[in-house]
Amino acid sequence: MELIDGKKISSQIKEEIAQEVEKIKENEGKIPHLAAIIVGHDGASETYVGHKEKACLQVGFNSTVVRFENDIAEDTLLRKVDELNKNTDIDGIIVQLPLPKHISEQKIIESIDPRKDVDGFHPINIGRMVIGLPSYVSATPAGIVELIKRYNIETSGKDVVVIGRSNIVGKPISILLSQKSEYGNATVTLTHSRTKNLKEIVSRADIVIVAMGQAEFLTADMVKEGAVIIDVGITRVKSDKTKSGWKLLGDVKFDEVSKKASYITPVPGGVGPMTIVSLLQNTLKSAKGEIYAKI
Ligand code: NAD
Repeated sequence: MELIDGKKISSQIKEEIAQEVEKIKENEGKIPHLAAIIVGHDGASETYVGHKEKACLQVGFNSTVVRFENDIAEDTLLRKVDELNKNTDIDGIIVQLPLPKHISEQKIIESIDPRKDVDGFHPINIGRMVIGLPSYVSATPAGIVELIKRYNIETSGKDVVVIGRSNIVGKPISILLSQKSEYGNATVTLTHSRTKNLKEIVSRADIVIVAMGQAEFLTADMVKEGAVIIDVGITRVKSDKTKSGWKLLGDVKFDEVSKKASYITPVPGGVGPMTIVSLLQNTLKSAKGEIYAKI
């Protein structure tokens, strides 16, 4: 079994990005710039935005965080997005989700200029991804594809089973891996909470991608010998063995499944670190005008 080390790969990619940033600075006098909007004081959202800000600084990006209180009017938020859309110094805009109930997340997502939508949540980017046009691919599926690439895992002709059909992970990764592309060409089965005979379907898979949010759901008896296992799930559970009193569990029962797997991602340290790095990669692409012409 080989461990897919997302922490190591993400550090390598950050170094590669930092070198590119130096080049852009030298040649064009430009510094890639990511703007994040956060509404309210949700602990998890604060943590995620903090990590993104730190990652930007690590690679030499400029980073702006715009903070609003929970009672902000939808119109005010829309105006802020519009202002960032028009600001030619900003390459990428992200709005940390979830938003308070009185604000339509979809409306806010659709208000972001697709050319700056580095989270890849705008329907234009999703649509372009589906038909194989250049697009910003959302961070977690992009990170999974990057891990597959860097570990030279063959996908062509392989049977892939994805568990979970969310718009941000399950659906896009199932499309990417079935796409006619270098790291696609797989035969993908997308499963979900209404799937019958899940165990039987999963046991045929060469590659299993689990994104369901149910701690240690996938057990050794469900997977084929030699399967590749990508665990996206993150569940925080109480623990008396850690300083913080909490630990993170994936959707895979790691101890037993790792004995059968050929490759497996740990939690933490697998897919998680790749997510932020993909966001940085998308912002760099925007700064270089690689997906759409520069604004
Ligand atoms: P979600 O939470 O929106 O939905 C869960 C999915 O699991 C649904 O599509 C549902 O149909 C499916 N599901 C639930 N029970 C099932 C069952 N018994 N059998 C088959 N399918 C079942 O999905 P999400 O937003 O993709 O999140 C999934 C997990 O991934 C969560 O733990 C989340 O925290 C984690 N996550 C991690 C990252 C990362 O960077 N590592 C990024 C996004 C999400």
